Amino acid sequence: MSLEYKKNTLHFSGVSIAEVAKKHKTPFYLYSEEVLSENYMEFFHGALEAGLHHPLVCFAVKSNSNKEFLKVLAGMGSGADIVSGGELLRALEAGIPASKIVFSGVGKTTEEIELGLKKGVYSFNVESVEELELINFLAGKMKKTARICFRFNPEVVSKTHKYISTGNKTHKFGILKKDILATVKNKKLWTNSKLVGLSIHIGSQLLDLKATKTAIERMCDVAIASKVDLEFLDVGGGLGIDYQASETAKVPKIADYMKMIHDTLEKHYYSKTANIARVVFEPGRRISGKTGILVMSVLRNKVSDGNNFMILDGGMNDMMRPSLYEAYHEISPVAKSSKKEVLTHIVGPICETSDLFGTRKMAPLKSGELVILRDAGAYGYSMGSTYNLRARPEELMINLARKLQVINPRGTYEELK
Ligand SMILES: *Cc1c(COP(=O)(O)O)cnc(C)c1O
Repeated sequence: MSLEYKKNTLHFSGVSIAEVAKKHKTPFYLYSEEVLSENYMEFFHGALEAGLHHPLVCFAVKSNSNKEFLKVLAGMGSGADIVSGGELLRALEAGIPASKIVFSGVGKTTEEIELGLKKGVYSFNVESVEELELINFLAGKMKKTARICFRFNPEVVSKTHKYISTGNKTHKFGILKKDILATVKNKKLWTNSKLVGLSIHIGSQLLDLKATKTAIERMCDVAIASKVDLEFLDVGGGLGIDYQASETAKVPKIADYMKMIHDTLEKHYYSKTANIARVVFEPGRRISGKTGILVMSVLRNKVSDGNNFMILDGGMNDMMRPSLYEAYHEISPVAKSSKKEVLTHIVGPICETSDLFGTRKMAPLKSGELVILRDAGAYGYSMGSTYNLRARPEELMINLARKLQVINPRGTYEELK
């Protein structure tokens, strides 16, 4: 376990959180390089061990875009799945080569496409025919050939929160089968572009592999029907983690996930063609979620007619997931307490009622005592904002030598525009 109580005080990756908080002002994010390395290696080697062809793991940069964090991944050979020009520049600066970067997103701008062409990304994961037209036109202007992957909309319903489900035809993502097949045949669209792949991504925090399996089967059918010898099939991201104990048994094991992908591709693709397409992955949360925690302090407590509020110094601007998706994150005191637990609304200082991390049974804590929000390595800092004119929190990493590194200093008032 990367989080454990030793002598009643919580340690992360072998380091006492209370000791870190003596020198660093809360709120701050604390990451573990050890957990990050283990998660990436488990994923990549899982793909190799399942016998998948020449796997490429493109980490979803939007889940955690810290440059030092990405450098650790780059060092292990990771690629990147990016959704903006900013993320492209960040991934390149972290040392991820353009030849391992897939450019996703429904709303790429002209400038972003030109940047992607100039840097030579592995593929543009295209989400509409109009987008292909623009990329093809810009590639012609720049005398380049754009590498294109269609993001296929497999019309499946994934069991996750409606705001993080993306694979249905009522969602803005992806292109339907009939539109892909018609587009492939339209020679006008391919004067400066080449179809090299197909991708899916049906949602996030998926704990059930059924919808993903169906989506991959349908992608294989489109790949075969297209009659193009694709360089790769991209199975997307979305694999979930256990945010709470009740999810632990449901979380797919990497080995089972990889076996499902292997068996599905064998049956629906490789058995029907001599073409050996490689397999691309776009995991975010599964790699980054458990790498980080958000450390906060109790500011004060308040009781309103039987409602107990614990007010923390971190808020929804620092960690948006509970407010945005009603996401569950485990919340724990750094110093274990034997006091009687009471039902408590754990809130931040932001002027919004939704600035609530959760309502839990918790032992009362006094002003200045430390609290952590677990599993904050994905969609934590990267989704944060400066709402209420609050400076961004510091990001720290415990490296493999168990030394603390500041990987992004605390923001300042002067930086706020
Ligand atoms: C967000 C996203 C991912 C990563 O999703 P996770 O749930 O974090 O694995 C992968 N691919 C695309 C296209 C995305 O938008």
